[in-house]
Amino acid sequence: IIELKNIYKNFYTDEGEILVLKDVNLALERGKILGILGPSGSGKSTILNILTKLLQPTSGEVQIEGEIGYMFQKDHLLEWRTIMDNITIGLEIQHKVTTKALERIEHLLKIYGIWEFRNRYPKELSGGMRQRVALIRTLATDPDVLLLDEPFSALDYQTRLMVSDDIYKIIRQENKDAILVTHDISEAI
Ligand code: ATP
Ligand code: MG
Repeated sequence: IIELKNIYKNFYTDEGEILVLKDVNLALERGKILGILGPSGSGKSTILNILTKLLQPTSGEVQIEGEIGYMFQKDHLLEWRTIMDNITIGLEIQHKVTTKALERIEHLLKIYGIWEFRNRYPKELSGGMRQRVALIRTLATDPDVLLLDEPFSALDYQTRLMVSDDIYKIIRQENKDAILVTHDISEAI
């Protein structure tokens, strides 16, 4: 269960106080994908940061059950670690490096066209490739809930279709819950 009730969020800036979220309510049903659509600066990433407890709401209730995988809007790849090491770091921390997990990663790296780059460093990759690495890293720990912040924004049309198809398949077949942030209406439908 994922639920936000009566969420308010203020930020304090040099210009004063800004109200970013005003009475936000959402509930995620099992096995469904919830799209969050809105213009730049409307508070989409703030909602995900509150769901993952990276930010405290000013007021309101947050309820989360299950393990969350969060794909940030910025990829936050570790520049001093190889692509493979970036992807497996979460598994290492959680002591979940299993043959099955590594096979899953190998499969994703191959279909996303990153396999040949697995021993390279993030700076050697294009923006779209980095984004796919961030996505694979989020999927690697096999979380129950996926929070994806504009996961396809740096991808060309063809790659976007391929990757988004694959994501929807994973969500459906593995019965995951997902929240997808986008500013592209066609992705939200
Ligand atoms: P985008 O589509 O550009 O990613 P967004 O909908 O994700 O936008 P947020 O990143 O959630 O928007 O930001 C919402 C608003 O809150 C913006 O006006 C932003 O300037 C402000 N904001 C976000 N984080 C902070 C912070 N830590 N301190 C002050 N203001 C912030
Ligand atoms: Mg954002």
